[in-house]
Amino acid sequence: MTRVPPARRGVPPPAPDSSPPAPSRRVRVRVTGRVQGVGFRPFVFALARRLGLAGFVLNDSLGVLAEVEGEGVEEFLARLVADAPPLACVERLATEALPPTGESGFTIRASAGGGPPDAAVSPDAATCDACLAELFDPADRRYRYPFINCTGCGPRFTIVTAVPYDRPSTTMAAFTMCRACRAEYQDPGDRRFHAQPNACPDCGPRVRLVADRIPAGRRREAIAGGPRDAISAAAAAVRSGAILAVKGIGGFHLACRADDEAAVSALRARKHREDRPFAIMVGDLDAARALVELDGDEIRSRARPIVIAPRRGDVAPSVAPRSRELGVMLPYSPLHHLLLADAGVPLVMTSGNVSDEPIAFTDEDALRRLAGIADLFLLHDRPIRTRTDDSVLRGRRVVRRSRGFVPEPLPLPAAPALLATGAELKSTFTLARDGRAWVGHHIGDLRNVETLASFADGVEHFERLFAVAPQLIAHDMHPDYLSTSYALAREGEHVAVQHHHAHLAAALAEHGEPEALGAIFDGTGYGTDGTIWGGELLLGGPGGFTRAGHLRPVRMPGGESAIREPWRMACAWLAESGLETPPAWANVRRLAETGLASPVTTSMGRLFDAVAALCGLRETVTYEGQAAIELEAAADAHETAAYPLPVTEGAALVLDPRPAIAAIVDDLARGAGVALVSARFHNAVARATAAACREVGAPAVVLSGGVFQNALLLDRTTEALRPARVLTPVRLPCNDGGISYGQAAVAAALHGA
Ligand code: ZN
Ligand code: ZN
Ligand code: FE
Repeated sequence: MTRVPPARRGVPPPAPDSSPPAPSRRVRVRVTGRVQGVGFRPFVFALARRLGLAGFVLNDSLGVLAEVEGEGVEEFLARLVADAPPLACVERLATEALPPTGESGFTIRASAGGGPPDAAVSPDAATCDACLAELFDPADRRYRYPFINCTGCGPRFTIVTAVPYDRPSTTMAAFTMCRACRAEYQDPGDRRFHAQPNACPDCGPRVRLVADRIPAGRRREAIAGGPRDAISAAAAAVRSGAILAVKGIGGFHLACRADDEAAVSALRARKHREDRPFAIMVGDLDAARALVELDGDEIRSRARPIVIAPRRGDVAPSVAPRSRELGVMLPYSPLHHLLLADAGVPLVMTSGNVSDEPIAFTDEDALRRLAGIADLFLLHDRPIRTRTDDSVLRGRRVVRRSRGFVPEPLPLPAAPALLATGAELKSTFTLARDGRAWVGHHIGDLRNVETLASFADGVEHFERLFAVAPQLIAHDMHPDYLSTSYALAREGEHVAVQHHHAHLAAALAEHGEPEALGAIFDGTGYGTDGTIWGGELLLGGPGGFTRAGHLRPVRMPGGESAIREPWRMACAWLAESGLETPPAWANVRRLAETGLASPVTTSMGRLFDAVAALCGLRETVTYEGQAAIELEAAADAHETAAYPLPVTEGAALVLDPRPAIAAIVDDLARGAGVALVSARFHNAVARATAAACREVGAPAVVLSGGVFQNALLLDRTTEALRPARVLTPVRLPCNDGGISYGQAAVAAALHGA
């Protein structure tokens, strides 16, 4: 008998020894990571057969388990990682030597239950090329079938109800596969082997068109024909100017022609969405390139995010008023592909909700809530388990992490199982155990019971999916956030985390760095002194920080109303700088000077609001950050001069914008344009930040907080900081969508192993 080599652990296995021929041996292989529902078992099956190995492979609650026996075991182990299917992500590979059994043949065994579920549920993936080819092939049995999918593509996270990931644990449980589909599903050589949402026109979900508001003449045409024609009828209605509610992967969209100003402005009016840009879905990459300047391949990734990029092509003015950019995405479900192909024009595809409500994701809810918006509804009977918004990237950086990315785990230092509940705006939660953190899907602004219910449901769903029983509950220090009350109502050890500390910790944890100086600029965060922070220089790591500096504090006249009315912040900064204000602002100036109902803030976001208002861009806003976004869009990127913005020393460094405010007033009085003023202001903040960071003397600087979604500010600050190393969030948003992960990192550092 040949000697059995000792067990090995780790990734990747060494290259096989080519000569002399490897001895016959048996090895048990445990693969963890994203290996279920992605075609991993058929891949193992095919690989083992090709190498003439005996044994078996199965899915269990930990991932994939295989035993292989024969002479090609080494090559098998090498190829297991190198040739893994496209959607798979092998996190760990552990091997254990076993005595050979003399078994012959290789089989796929039934899933084994029991044990804690640890198998990764994969994110939803865009329709693959092979499925697309079938979708548009008139000879294929799934020609124009809007639910075509395979092990390499299709819905995953949004349809999973439990683990292990198997058909009965999805919203496809109610559909019984026909003979042909079942044959594919059971054939290890088929690319639909164990594709859980596998279906066809004979056995699977169907679309249906509800066209109540379409004028009678057109309605007959719209609802004529069977389910296969519903999509072309919907496309025809949209082409002629209708607004369509369409059920996608993670929820409903509202769609209309992107080149039809009447349709787009009607959509805006009905949706009560005044200015926030709409995203556009285009048929293919060429159509995307016609609209925006794309840098990178993110738009084509399997996550199919909305990519915000500089615009080059024309769309209706109401699509993205006052913006130099457009958010564009490619079709990611077969239904989208058919709709776009039939429509033949780019479509606005915006979230299916009224103003700030959560997106509708059930047919009943959509028919009820979107009735006042949509002319017709393209529905289907495959339920969505978890509402998941489109993810958004700006360039390569994630602005909103949701469909296509969630629930891919991120690394986090080992600690007791924990839950972090995030902040208020752009809410997410994070659950973590054993060195992995699952950051939940974008929930929205956690300000009402509906959103809180969806937040709580998300937390509980993730707790079950990933078997996390949190002992630590991390939350924001703000006493009034719903996320804080939710956290405090849960049993466990509570960890209150300062908001900007969480921003810093999130960026550090993402990059695996122990500490840095964080320049954390955002709109609002509760400070350790009870005031509103938002222009902070925090030195430290997840375990703790010192406030090394901050923006000069100023009053927010009238409190919260100063967020919606940036002119109030302009008034406050003028008063603070000893400058005149218009007579009409006298009452608000008095608030700023007396401090009545006017909390103190060091918010950088509010300073940007103030400057936007001074420039006459915006006196009021309809969404958070709007004034600052328009100020950035207005800037002349060629301007290199900067306003004076000194850094003064004291107990902490203070960035003092008063001289900049005075210079802005002078420039505007001399008739300088907004482009110049905006650029000089951006440059001033960038240089002052860099000067303050040099003063503190940290080798690495984190730039985060929602204000750093401003690409011009980020670029200018990064330049000014040279040669210091700059870290920014990439996989998570720098806005409050990243807060829960940062809170988790802080809790892990304080209570870690
Ligand atoms: Zn496919
Ligand atoms: Zn079928
Ligand atoms: Fe924040």
